[in-house]
Formats: sequence, structure tokens, C-alpha cells
Amino acid sequence: MNQTPQIRHALSTKRADDFAQWYQEVISEAEMAEESGVRGCMVIKPWGYGIWERIQRRMDDRIKAAGVQNCYFPLFIPLSYFAKEADHVEGFAKEMAVVTHHRLIAGENGGLVPDPEAKLEEPLIVRPTSETVIGAAMARWVQSWRDLPLLTNQWANVVRWEMRTRMFLRTSEFLWQEGHTAHADRDDAMEETLRALEMYRDFAETELAMPVFAGEKPENERFPGAVATYSIEAMMQDGKALQAGTSHYLGTGFAKAAGIQYQDKEGTQQYAHTTSWGTSTRMIGGLIMTHGDDDGLRVPPIVAPYQIVVLPMLRDGPEDEALLAYCQDLTKALGQLSAFGEPVRVLLDKRPGKATQKRWAWVKKGVPIMLEIGGRDAAGGQVSMLRRDRIWNAAAKANFVALAKDDFLASAVAELEEFQAGLFAEAKDRRDANVSTVENMEALTAFFAQDKRYPGWAEVLWSRPTGAALESVVQKLKALKLTIRNTPLDGQAVSGSCIFTGEPAVERIYVARSY
Ligand code: AMP
Repeated sequence: MNQTPQIRHALSTKRADDFAQWYQEVISEAEMAEESGVRGCMVIKPWGYGIWERIQRRMDDRIKAAGVQNCYFPLFIPLSYFAKEADHVEGFAKEMAVVTHHRLIAGENGGLVPDPEAKLEEPLIVRPTSETVIGAAMARWVQSWRDLPLLTNQWANVVRWEMRTRMFLRTSEFLWQEGHTAHADRDDAMEETLRALEMYRDFAETELAMPVFAGEKPENERFPGAVATYSIEAMMQDGKALQAGTSHYLGTGFAKAAGIQYQDKEGTQQYAHTTSWGTSTRMIGGLIMTHGDDDGLRVPPIVAPYQIVVLPMLRDGPEDEALLAYCQDLTKALGQLSAFGEPVRVLLDKRPGKATQKRWAWVKKGVPIMLEIGGRDAAGGQVSMLRRDRIWNAAAKANFVALAKDDFLASAVAELEEFQAGLFAEAKDRRDANVSTVENMEALTAFFAQDKRYPGWAEVLWSRPTGAALESVVQKLKALKLTIRNTPLDGQAVSGSCIFTGEPAVERIYVARSY
């Protein structure tokens, strides 16, 4: 009988055995980030930061294309700014880092302690989000209807003192963009809120190859102080949901707190309607949990710091010279190609070290295409290509394909495009196969109690209860370790009863375990 050859994967933990452990292993083996010594704060290493820079660049292009301009606001926000919006301060109070002193002096035991003489008159909050400070600026900048809409964004770090942290997904300090806009009326603000949501949906699916459901969050999951919160939700490979971006319609609450008023065409003073929207380094966690495999990460080419790595099989001998010259030419020719509207990013990796070790380091990092070039390839005008999404052949050997150099140059861009599209299709098929319609509470309980470790998401009908009725639904779900993700915005009519209240249903919601 034929024995299937055993594949030895590059990671020691398989996704199916321990997904959480696998996730940590990818982050360390792909050299994306490491612990910093401060709980919940991470050091982002070049490969992780390179992906963030790609995300930043492409998202920033989209933000600017929508007429939004970047600004920068201070890291410290006076506590009194927060106090003006009651729901907002209550929502964030539990996780605020507070600066109270501006000087240290020698303490009794020799160490340094805050100088009581240097106590700040008013505590400063390390920003967890910037609605309040940007609102104060908007109050100065907006006078007349002609000043609206005012469309701003900032790229910054924020601090939320999270209790349960996990690298990229939930850290105490994270990097993000926060859009903040002010509008003359509700309709215009709502249009901006949904525009940002659609920008995030398209970004997640196009740039990150990560399928998402865009929809409205239930009342209990609203951003503190918001009138409505919308999100994009992605399914990770363990079936859990990840909120990958949010967009909020803030009504006039923040405008009233900060005094953002304008004179309308009739000369009457009106409050502006504001929005805010954000995506963060969490998206990198989503990328890992969507595209990683048992050999490490697979990076969608659009956000890969390097899309192609050229790896000469150096031998420390005189023959290296010709090999390097060949690889340099190849690298240069590849760098002149353009993919996804930008020059192809290609690296010639001529660092010392064994070629196979270097190969596996790049496999774990998930570089889309690797070209290993030996003396014979160089002499014959060939390349040996390893595509990270087709890494194993039937004999459990690394799947190198020999190509004439010119043929590869002619097809490299198409290979990258195919890689990007393939990752999306794979993730979408998996997501769609793991969303099930569930008809009642018993079925919901059974669905998530399945033997299958990762049951996916349930799509159910509900009556959109509010207040105490919603709270009772939330508690029921909490007992099953479940959360409501969002309501699709496709306007699809529904008929049937709410699986929680028995009342006539008005819409669908997704229910899932979540990060
Ligand atoms: P919010 O301002 O709460 O709507 O957050 C905006 C986005 O930032 C969310 O949709 C998340 O994707 C992300 N985010 C929130 N908290 C964290 C965190 N602790 N670490 C990383 N990303 C976060």
C-alpha cells in the first residue's frame, strides 16, 4: 500500500491542536512582534511594522481620496474634556491611563517618586480616543455652514488599559487611524458614517483579502456616547469573530459637549452632527488568523513588505560572483514591474547563512513568492519558484517550479494577483461554509455545543429589542459565551419570529464567539 508522505510543518503547533498557541508561535516565528516588559504593550518588529506601513499607506490613500485631511492632536487630554460627555467618560473610565505629576524626586528608600510639589492641577488622560480634543478644535474651526463638512483624520497611538490582552488583537497601546468629521445635519453625517464603513469593508476584502460582514452593532455594543455604531466583522479560522473596524454616528452629543456650532443659511445657530471611525493594528491579528497556516503566515501581496524574495544559493566560492550578478539583474528587472498600482517590492537576500534555513524563515514570514537561484539556474537562465500558497507537492517536498527567467518576468505580476485573489477566495469559502441559519434558541444552544470545536457563526432572526429586553438577551448569550456581532445592512426583508423574544422579527443578526 502507498503511504502518504508525512509533511513536516515549519511550526511546532498546528492550528487544529491549539489555535491560541499557534497564533503566538506565528507572531514570534515570523518575527512580527514581541513582548515589551510592559503588560499589554508590544514591540512591533520590522516584518510586523512593514505590514502596518503597507496597511497605513493604502488606507491613507483611500481616506484622502474621500476628501479627508490628516491632522495631529495631542497625546494628553485634560480630564475635564472627557467629563463633558457623560456616557463617553463612563465608557472609557475603566481603562484610562492618567498622568498626575510632572517631576520625580528622591524617595525615602532611595528610588524616585512623584514630587508632591509637582502635582498637575488637572489630571491628563493618555488618549484612549480623540473625540473630545478634536471636538474642542472643531468648535474653534467651525463657525458657519460654509465650514462644513469638516473632514479630519489622524494616525496615532492610543492607550486603553485592557485587562485581557493579546498581541495585535487587543493591546494596551495600539496604533490606529481615527477619522473625525462634522456635518450640518444627520443625513450628511450618516452618509459619512456609512461611507467610512464601506471603505473599511472594501479595504478588508481588497487589501487584506479578508471577507467581512458590514453591519450595525446592537445598542449594547455601541461606542460610548454614539447614537449608532457600525462594524466590519471577520471570521477567524477557529470560527470566532473579530471586529476589524468601526464607524460611529455620534449625533449632536459630542457637538453639544464641545460647542461645535455653526450659523446655518438662515442665520440660526445649529449644532453640528459628528462621526468617528477607526481601524487599528488589530487588523494584523486578523490577517494572521485569516491567512496563516501550519507553516506560518501567508501575507496578501498588497500588504506584504516584500512580495518576492530572491535567494541565491551562495557557496562562499568564486562561482558566487556570477550567481550574484544574475540575481541582481533579476531583482532589478522585477523591481521595474508594477503590481496593484505600485512598483513590485522585491528583496535580494544575500545575507550569509544556509539557503534552506533562509528559505524556511521566509516561509514562516509568509512572503508570497520566493525564487531560489543556484549556479545551474543562473547558467541556464532559469529561476526556481516557490509560491507560499502552494508550498507542498504530492511527495511532501517543497514545491519548487522551474521556469525560464523571462517567462517568470512575464508572469510575476499575474502570479501575485492570483495569490491575492486566491487567499480571498479561500477565506470567503471557509467563512460562507461556516455561517448557518439557526431557527430557535434550542438549536442555537445545540449549534454552539457541537462536538466540532469551531462551529462558526449563527445567523438568526430577532426583533431588535432595546433596554432591559436587550440586556436579558445579552445575558442569555453570555451564558453560552456568545455575542451579537452585527446586523447586515442589505435591507433584506425578513419574516418569522425573534428567536429570543418570540416577537415578530425585523432583521437578521450574526451570533458568534468572539475575540
Ligand atoms: P473604537 O474607537 O472603540 O470604535 O475602536 C476602533 C477600532 O480599534 C476597533 O474597531 C478595533 O478594530 C480597534 N481596537 C479597539 N480596541 C483595541 C485594542 N485594545 N487593541 C487593538 N485594536 C483595538
